[in-house]
Amino acid sequence: MIHHPIIKVALPVPLPQLFDYLQTEDGSFTPVGSRVLVPFGRRKLVGLVMRHAMTSKLPPKRLLRIVQPLDQSEPLLDHGLLELLEWCWKYYKHAPGKVVLSALPPALRKAGGTLPAPPVHYFLTQAGRERLEQPAGRQKTQYRMLETLAAGAKTAESLFGIGSQWRKTLTLLIDQSQVEQRPASIDPPVFAPGPKLTDGQQKAVDKISRDLRHFHCHLLDGITGSGKTEVYMRLMEEVLARDRQVLVLVPEIGLTPQLLRRFKQRLGLEPAVIHSGLSPGQRLEAWAAARAGRAQLIVGTRSALFTPMPKAGLIILDEEHDASFKQQDGFRYSARDVAIKRAADLNIPVVLGSATPSLESLNNALAGKYAWHRLRERATSASLPSWRVLDLCQQSTFHGLSATALDAMREAIEREEQVMVFLNRRGYAPVLMCQQCGWYGSCDRCDARLTWHRSIGILWCHHCGSQRKVPKLCPDCQADELVGAGEGTQQLEEALEQHFPGIPVLRFDRDRTRGKGVMAMQLEQVMKGETCLLVGTQMLAKGHHFPKVTLVVIVNVDQALYSADYRALERMGQMLQQVAGRAGRMEKPGTVILQTLHPEHPALELLLTRGYEAYARWLLEERHMAGLPPSGYQALLRAEAHARSDVEKFLREAIDLFPQGEARAHGPMPAIMERMGGRSRMYLMLLSTSRSSLHRQIDQWLLSLRALPSSRKTRWAIDIDPQEI
Ligand code: ADP
Ligand code: ZN
Ligand code: ZN
Repeated sequence: MIHHPIIKVALPVPLPQLFDYLQTEDGSFTPVGSRVLVPFGRRKLVGLVMRHAMTSKLPPKRLLRIVQPLDQSEPLLDHGLLELLEWCWKYYKHAPGKVVLSALPPALRKAGGTLPAPPVHYFLTQAGRERLEQPAGRQKTQYRMLETLAAGAKTAESLFGIGSQWRKTLTLLIDQSQVEQRPASIDPPVFAPGPKLTDGQQKAVDKISRDLRHFHCHLLDGITGSGKTEVYMRLMEEVLARDRQVLVLVPEIGLTPQLLRRFKQRLGLEPAVIHSGLSPGQRLEAWAAARAGRAQLIVGTRSALFTPMPKAGLIILDEEHDASFKQQDGFRYSARDVAIKRAADLNIPVVLGSATPSLESLNNALAGKYAWHRLRERATSASLPSWRVLDLCQQSTFHGLSATALDAMREAIEREEQVMVFLNRRGYAPVLMCQQCGWYGSCDRCDARLTWHRSIGILWCHHCGSQRKVPKLCPDCQADELVGAGEGTQQLEEALEQHFPGIPVLRFDRDRTRGKGVMAMQLEQVMKGETCLLVGTQMLAKGHHFPKVTLVVIVNVDQALYSADYRALERMGQMLQQVAGRAGRMEKPGTVILQTLHPEHPALELLLTRGYEAYARWLLEERHMAGLPPSGYQALLRAEAHARSDVEKFLREAIDLFPQGEARAHGPMPAIMERMGGRSRMYLMLLSTSRSSLHRQIDQWLLSLRALPSSRKTRWAIDIDPQEI
């Protein structure tokens, strides 16, 4: 074996390189993909070995030694994942160490963290059986444990509680060879039968099944309730039966107990769940189970994408259009795009599911790059909801709710059904203002109004989080005439309680569901089916299946119709479809009432009369004409600083340095919300018809940007395929 003296290590620091170290004094083997503890400045950091090399650019006397290998026996990440991570840092232009370390569960980013030992089962030996034939005598606890084990192999948890010293007793029995431990076996999943598939589902399953042994990207484009989840589960069965692993990625608020329960019941296995809300211990456990191939089904949010899977067979991304698949800070990757890249590397299929596909995916389907499977009928007898558009100019309103909407709500309540009221704004009112002089509460640090949270007496900035007590009198003119303008979910909750006395109102938004268990408790109550009103933000729009909701009222979407963000209309269309999808999921027909000041807006008209696909194709046309994604490729250079002049200076110098080529740089332009958290935010937009030129030019540009003195006065970053401006 050739001896490679230099170890190239990824470290969690914001610098664009790997770091060279010498092996430990005693020459311990540090395999590629394993963690090491290294000196860095005055600190010691945990890093991951990326490569072994013969030479270093550093002079020998500056090379330091690895302090300690942390995973002697085996690398944590395999070559395939390491290559994917390297592709990621190059594609997204982010610091290698930040990218690589983000693939590890938080517990392993610390020097003390180690992989948990694989679970074992305890068995009775021949000696143990013989002991059981003797009377228990005084060793009552030992005897009881042996009796328990005589019924079959057990995990440590199932022996828990046999005597106060069960652990000690168990060790003693092992020492006496009456009990033996062996690695726990993995039970093959036992599938419960599912419903007979609809023609559309069957066609999709057949087509994708034919293609399960190699890479292909499938777009499962099916309206809400068309049975996409059922299609996923049929495919999962096939893959699991071949002892391959399945990874299911869902949006941040799509990871519901309902979904997990469904998987568990149908597939007969316990999914390993990975998301940021878990304790470090739970997350490590699930990650280690996936890495060892013990976990057959892994379900998680964005960050679960990088979970090691030695037997990967299928990746599914549910609600692929969801914005939470793109990380919005730091390592700004798109979990959808990287999932496709990972599936291609592994040569396995990837299924993107949505009722409202993103324009990117639709474009690829239209171009024939993705296999396109359309489900246009509901799987159950439920019919599609009917839409009613209400012109708010012609209606009297009560806290933003029109008389017509309130009447429809009353009728639904009289029929003992459930109603959902949707408003994407939490708090009591979006503004608190003075009727005397026009003063309104605005954030000192952002270009934003403060939201009034009346129940806690706070004015709250939803962008930077700063808070302030509600003033008693107007701070400008001292008048006692402060009133809320506009509505938030809290106000709707109060108004509905007042209007429909005795009917329970359940609010679903980030403020309300912050408390542990509140979400589950409220969902439970809805599922029980008693008459109630649900009020919520888009948290309500996703994934839930509420059989008794027959009426959905959308209070307001007008902001999106005239937004400066070119993605606003796409998002609005998706959101409206998703919300409407909650109506009438069972036998009763559903109605959606949309309140707007602009009923004649062409986008609304198209969406409501011709449906999402026609709407999305029209938006695609517009993007093509403007040369915007997915027609062209886009990146941003984002920059922010306390002083606007610093940001502008940097971006002006940066644009002058942008290399010649197919890609063009535009700007500087202010972000849609220019001041946020006390900093000015601006950007340059880079557009190109060629992805490779765009990347080549940016890579070259980065070298000169880093050398620019003005770059040190700002916080800046490249955002590839941005989702927000
Ligand atoms: P989606 O994920 O597309 O919104 P689901 O898979 O959740 O749809 O299916 C909606 C409802 O229809 C669920 O209650 C599901 O159990 C049911 N369902 C799905 N497929 C069928 C089928 N082929 N026959 C009967 N019911 C079905
Ligand atoms: Zn005033
Ligand atoms: Zn703010």
